[in-house]
Amino acid sequence: MDITCVGCGYVGLVVGTCLADQGHKVLCVDSDAKKINMLRRGVLPIYEPGLVELLNRNVKEGRQGFSTSLKKGIETGEVIFIAVGTPTSNNGEADVSAVLAVAREIGRCMRDYKMVVVKSTVPMGTASRVASIIKNNQRKPVDFDVVSNPEFLREGQAVKDFLEPDRVIIGLDSPRPRETMEALYRGITHVERPLIFTTTRSAELIKYASNAMLATRISFVNEVARLCERVGADIKEVAKGIGLDSRIGPRFLEAGVGYGGSCFPKDVNALSKIMRRHGVRPRIIEAVGRVNEEQKLLPMKKIKTLLPSLRGKKIAIWGLAFKPGTDDMRDAPSLTVVRELRRAGAKIHAFDPVAEAKAKTLLKGVRFFGDPYSTLVGCNALVILTEWNEFRELDKKRIKGLLKEPNVVDGRNIYEPEEMRRLGFNYLGVGRR
Ligand code: NAD
Repeated sequence: MDITCVGCGYVGLVVGTCLADQGHKVLCVDSDAKKINMLRRGVLPIYEPGLVELLNRNVKEGRQGFSTSLKKGIETGEVIFIAVGTPTSNNGEADVSAVLAVAREIGRCMRDYKMVVVKSTVPMGTASRVASIIKNNQRKPVDFDVVSNPEFLREGQAVKDFLEPDRVIIGLDSPRPRETMEALYRGITHVERPLIFTTTRSAELIKYASNAMLATRISFVNEVARLCERVGADIKEVAKGIGLDSRIGPRFLEAGVGYGGSCFPKDVNALSKIMRRHGVRPRIIEAVGRVNEEQKLLPMKKIKTLLPSLRGKKIAIWGLAFKPGTDDMRDAPSLTVVRELRRAGAKIHAFDPVAEAKAKTLLKGVRFFGDPYSTLVGCNALVILTEWNEFRELDKKRIKGLLKEPNVVDGRNIYEPEEMRRLGFNYLGVGRR
């Protein structure tokens, strides 16, 4: 199939590349000329493990190309994926203007039948809006369908998630696109990874409700972790005990400094706005967001118990990306922590294995270092904000020797409190005994 994928971000690039790898001919379109130029040179504008190798192979074998021309993408693609951003707007709702702008252009430029697949996360009813906009912008009537196909990939393992999804959700308001969508995902779905057909509105809501559910688990376990600290329980033991209940399951029960990234915060906000708009009080969802905002302040509270005055103190931060495996800094807890530390007069040394370039554009007054150890020299405390695997097995005696004071705030519980205290650290995890 000839496919066009509009939006070359974390989602669009993975979708486009993986579909090319399935044997389709894919044109990836983005309005950002800088991104397209990088991609044409075989350079990824984002960090995503395994993606560049796949992309370069598909380009070499002539299945994948890049363009800034949406018009060209509309002309060549039988199936057009819309994977542009839907960031939070000023009032907290999802800003779908980029999705609608693409729909307008599709209406204006299409000359023959098109199947338009909305991949972006959008409020219920957006697929219908996209259909109306396409129709209203056509110069003469041409047939088309709009499909809702939300994406559930996780940054850091996006290629695997796209190629081995738990399920693929296809929202349809007419039966016609069904066969094409089945054909498109033939190499990816099977009995245990099924294609589920719903209406477009259900598909749109499945995406928001999934992210809200995951965010709820995180805020829930973070709240339980707060209680652990008060009553002398240990959140790792408690989470394990909860998670072994087959009705609950073990995942997304890790206490930490809160969720971030481009999805959970914005989708939780957007869902709560959608609910209010439809007269449903979002009591749980709003609490989930509030708990998370408080949680991002936790490292600061903990560090103050070790260093009551932070003025002039040097603090080392390991990990800036919102989670390991990505350079995505959108809504990362590190943004809050750095802002609060600077406000309190601290000097900040920081290291992240891949997010430094993005972090530099967002964080002012931070000194960046090329490896975890050199970040520590002369610092009064270490704060761990992202659980990169490479931090787990570092030489703790060396860490202690490099720090000016052996203070560690482990916002991701990667170390064991007992071992750290035995080694002489003033160690604070999240919800640990
Ligand atoms: P992103 O910001 O990384 O990428 C969006 C891209 O769209 C950018 O490169 C931008 O230049 C391009 N773009 C914007 N307007 C355009 C236009 N009119 N024409 C052409 N290109 C345009 O965003 P993302 O993280 O890839 O997310 C895309 C969508 O997928 C969002 O709705 C998001 O909620 C959803 N989603 C994201 C993830 C994730 O992990 N990032 C996972 C699932 C779903």
